[in-house]
Amino acid sequence: MTEPRAARPALDLDDLADGVRHGRRAAVSRAITLVESTRTDHRVAARELLGRLSGFEARSARTSTTTGNAVRVGVSGVPGVGKSTFIERLGTQLTADGHRVGVLAVDPSSVRTGGSVLGDKTRMGALAHDPDAYVRPSPAAGTLGGVARATVQAMAVLEAAGYDVVLVETVGVGQSEVTVAGMVDTFLFLTLARTGDQLQGIKKGILEIADVIAVNKADQDHEGEAREAARDLAGALRMVGGHDEWSAPVVTCSGLTGDGVREVWDRVLAHRDHLGAEGLARKRAAQQLDFAWALVRDELADRLRRSPGVAAVRDDVRRRVLDGELTAPVAADLVLEAYDADRGVTP
Ligand code: GDP
Repeated sequence: MTEPRAARPALDLDDLADGVRHGRRAAVSRAITLVESTRTDHRVAARELLGRLSGFEARSARTSTTTGNAVRVGVSGVPGVGKSTFIERLGTQLTADGHRVGVLAVDPSSVRTGGSVLGDKTRMGALAHDPDAYVRPSPAAGTLGGVARATVQAMAVLEAAGYDVVLVETVGVGQSEVTVAGMVDTFLFLTLARTGDQLQGIKKGILEIADVIAVNKADQDHEGEAREAARDLAGALRMVGGHDEWSAPVVTCSGLTGDGVREVWDRVLAHRDHLGAEGLARKRAAQQLDFAWALVRDELADRLRRSPGVAAVRDDVRRRVLDGELTAPVAADLVLEAYDADRGVTP
């Protein structure tokens, strides 16, 4: 991988912004690499780049109704449920309809281990080669907050580059779904045919954040089964109740054959219609506020890691806590004092 050029003098940032605005793939890739970088100088450059790109969006909003207004959709489900097959099918249909489709991934396994459940580059071959689509493998390992920051900013890059649909894929594990739900307009949950007791396996929390649910792999001999499961799920959902005066529709589809994929997309658009322009703007504004605080927390955690004062006491505090000499609250106070002292703050 080459280093992002924006790490060099400011002129290159202009180049990069220009390339992104013209939808040049190499520029889009470099810009996303830049926003994914955890290096402090890259983060500064990334912020500057995004400022330029959003300035462009603000200006063009007067003349264009699409720029900066991409349809942002999260796609989630357990490994093997068929997310990448589905996204490939949906993405191909959308580009055939004249859309430009960007695909990003938030992969909790890469957060921990540097490995990937989502399998990256080998996936979505056809879509990855579609000139109207851009498929980005998940960012390298980092914190979930860091990966989320990168993904939100990568989404902004894609939108500035003229992608009017952005699909954010994530695995149905823990916090990553909630994180993704917090950055998209509509959250689509893919599941497999499960009935009765198996329904318990679907976490209640998921049903609460899902805007559209699709029972996937409704093909071959499993169509009836899938329909039955969809009915059961719809029943279970009625118990949970909806959110934002919207009850998530449950449909069946097959990413493999393409059956029902359009209908899933129709439901996504129906959810958007339900939100309306104002509701969508409010939702995005609230997400921005949450994101702002997430950035603050992320930056503070980073400063704590970089603090020389904390570095100076860290080993000593560690040893004394492990030896039972210090209680956790006292240890925390010592670390915070060392952090504040760095910045000349006296409590
Ligand atoms: P992911 O891990 O959720 O991204 O799932 P994949 O898209 O990689 O699919 C996992 C496996 O299920 C693969 O072997 C696919 O060929 C298969 N698969 C995916 N979608 C469908 C479908 O709609 N019907 C059937 N029968 N198999 C599918």
